[in-house]
Amino acid sequence: MTLTSESDLELIRKTVRGLANRFTLDYWREKDQTGTYPWEFIRAFAEGGWMGAMIPEEYGGLGLGLTESGVMLHEIALSGAGTGGVSAIHFSVFPSGPILRHGSEEMKRTYLPELAAGRLLMAFGVSEPDAGFDTSRISTRAVREGGKWHITGRKVWITNAQNAHRLLLLARTSPRNEERPLDGMTLFFTDLNRDRIDVREIEKLGRACVDSNELFIDDLVVGDEDVIGEVGKGFRYLLDGLNPERIVVGMEQTGLGRCALGLAVDYANQRVVFDRPIGKNQAIAHPLADSWIRLHAAERVAMHAAALFDQNLPCGPEANAAKFLGSEAGFEACDRAMQTFGSFSYSKEFHIERLWRESRLLKIAPVSQEMVLNFVATNVLGLPKSY
Ligand SMILES: Cc1cc2nc3c(=O)[nH]c(=O)nc-3n(C[C@H](O)[C@H](O)[C@H](O)COP(=O)(O)OP(=O)(O)OC[C@H]3O[C@@H](n4cnc5c(N)ncnc54)[C@H](O)[C@@H]3O)c2cc1C
Repeated sequence: MTLTSESDLELIRKTVRGLANRFTLDYWREKDQTGTYPWEFIRAFAEGGWMGAMIPEEYGGLGLGLTESGVMLHEIALSGAGTGGVSAIHFSVFPSGPILRHGSEEMKRTYLPELAAGRLLMAFGVSEPDAGFDTSRISTRAVREGGKWHITGRKVWITNAQNAHRLLLLARTSPRNEERPLDGMTLFFTDLNRDRIDVREIEKLGRACVDSNELFIDDLVVGDEDVIGEVGKGFRYLLDGLNPERIVVGMEQTGLGRCALGLAVDYANQRVVFDRPIGKNQAIAHPLADSWIRLHAAERVAMHAAALFDQNLPCGPEANAAKFLGSEAGFEACDRAMQTFGSFSYSKEFHIERLWRESRLLKIAPVSQEMVLNFVATNVLGLPKSY
């Protein structure tokens, strides 16, 4: 991956900011209230080629690195698009990673240009209701019969499934082996065939404009051409994508937190109570200043992790730190903005409550803060594995 100069990064920042700022806070409030998919926003980004940010140019993408993609998503969040706007683009940029790294040449040539152009929407189907973070316990099964795979099972929290055309799906192809519990799972990239997959939307706390769903899969028939890489190695392929996703979550959440902080600072300067702007009270000013410091530090860690990743250097500890710090600092900034806005934070008019609800998500998904701490305790500190 090439390293981008500071001036190129600045150009990306400016371009994305210009594009994202065409979609106002009121646009995102309306999307949140009506729960409608942000198609206009997606089309605008697709026209600029951004949906294929990390897809190589030979497959129709921009061929950018993680640093540039992280900067793009940071700017989208900073514009006030929140987790709704960020997810709409994030779910195009990242789930295609296993196809790129492990898919057949034919799969890449067929689907990557469509994904890059924003014409093909995909969903990412790993989580299951009874497995939690222990992915080795998934029970969705793919059984081989008559030269085809027959897949049956249940998935939960699958983003984008209302509109997605295709599904990246993890299924067990051999029984769980206590010695090697993460072997024996296979990744498929298949049509989201609604005759065989019942998609039911989950009502949720935030990010209403980007749907989350339960999938009930009943004898979905899939050919070998839809298998990614080798049968039985699907989980390993997913592992490759964990670090980059954690790093960009850090970038996204610092952008979202900065947006909330900016709104809070404006309000603290304007709102006069007891004959002075409320920002003159240190009880208001200090938490906001503290949030600026934490957001700044978290973003630096994420940028450092992204640079390591782009140079093909080990970055597991840094990626996990970026996700942890970004999610904490982002949510904390939103919570402090709520306090600054006082009673008006509770009104939908001022947008803070949307950011606050949406930022809470990133402490529990795509990986929880506890699982990040588990990683650091075991892999960085050398403490005994606790799970
Ligand atoms: C809005 C949303 C969108 C999502 N989108 C997708 C998607 O598109 N595709 C997809 O596949 N998945 C998706 N997910 C799922 C997500 O990535 C997680 O895999 C899933 O939320 C696991 O959650 P759980 O409650 O089942 O975890 P559980 O494992 O039940 O964990 C519950 C709590 O216990 C804690 N815990 C569990 N085990 C340990 C341990 N050993 N040590 C310490 N703490 C522990 C966890 O940290 C967590 O706080 C999404 C989730 C949400 C909420």
